[in-house]
Amino acid sequence: MKNRDIGVIDPWGSTSIESYEKLFEEFGIQRIDRLVDLIPERPSFIRRGIIFGHRDFERIVEAVVKKQSFAVMSGIKPTGPLHVGTILTLREIVFFQKLGATAFYCIADIEAYEDNGIPFEESERIALDNLIDALALGLDPSRAYIYRQSKENLVKDLAFIFARGVTLATIEAIYGVRHMGLYMSALIQAGDILLPQLKEFGGPKPTVVPVGVDQDPHIRLCRDLAHKFREKFGFIPPSATYHKIIRGLDGSPKMSKRNPMSYFTLTEDIESIEYKLRNAFTGGRATAKEQRRLGGEPEKCPIYELYKFFFIEDDDKLLDIYLKCKNGEILCGEDKEFAVEVVTSFIKEHQRKRSMNVDKAREILGLL
Ligand code: SF4
Repeated sequence: MKNRDIGVIDPWGSTSIESYEKLFEEFGIQRIDRLVDLIPERPSFIRRGIIFGHRDFERIVEAVVKKQSFAVMSGIKPTGPLHVGTILTLREIVFFQKLGATAFYCIADIEAYEDNGIPFEESERIALDNLIDALALGLDPSRAYIYRQSKENLVKDLAFIFARGVTLATIEAIYGVRHMGLYMSALIQAGDILLPQLKEFGGPKPTVVPVGVDQDPHIRLCRDLAHKFREKFGFIPPSATYHKIIRGLDGSPKMSKRNPMSYFTLTEDIESIEYKLRNAFTGGRATAKEQRRLGGEPEKCPIYELYKFFFIEDDDKLLDIYLKCKNGEILCGEDKEFAVEVVTSFIKEHQRKRSMNVDKAREILGLL
């Protein structure tokens, strides 16, 4: 489903964003540009505009600068092995942890049931696998509260309380007409986002939620609830950063589980990843001759996006590939072999780190 000219963004669907500009105009997401210089140690996802927008991020910058307590809240819906796109959210959580945040990492098993029909016993097994990835990507469990929605009564209690603050008309305006379970899971997510501000976790504090822009409806609902229940809990409306959505390897606007050729997972066989990369859509021309004459189109190329989003941290190296592509100095076949080398060496190293984090993940989830 397209996003119907941005009328409603569907956080549970396959919304594709055709114009980030419209998000600024229609939903009041703010541009992050003018705050970038205030953020210490800017990783590539900030330098390159992959995080492009925010709500109230000034509050987080201030907390970092003044060394005040703040939280980063995010999580994962356990529906299967983590695909390459989720690296970004996990790197953002780790980044904010390094800036001083306490991380709240939610395993959204209620949402996995409501949206995908995955029973809790199965999502527990998947969550373990996902958590191993998160630890391998640098999540520091000593400065994180990691929990399952279905087991966290404080979150469920908040959802019940929040239900008094939302009418059916409001929730339909945000999400469109969906089954009641999804509306309930949206209230649970609001509970997740505001959990760090309960007195059990030290009380109100700035909280940043790094998300793909398709998750903005949850942020809007939660900020509205934070205002409504401010008197009772003292909530500070949560801040959010928004990242762009990486396109699928098949050239589609978004990686989708419905098409395995559009993505690969962090636990996938190396041969399978190589096959997908070699068969990926590119921004190349119809013939080698034409590409040498006209140059490629890295702006449309999923291989280039993989470099830009995840796999090439060095800006000079990325620029070199961009220019060589634009000038027709490299052809896609040759560049895909380079992509295979870069991506598979990352995945091999990641899979090695995973093997060192299995027991830790089991211990965190109480599965030892
Ligand atoms: S040369 Fe590389 S970056 Fe350029 S279009 Fe081909 S695969 Fe993409």
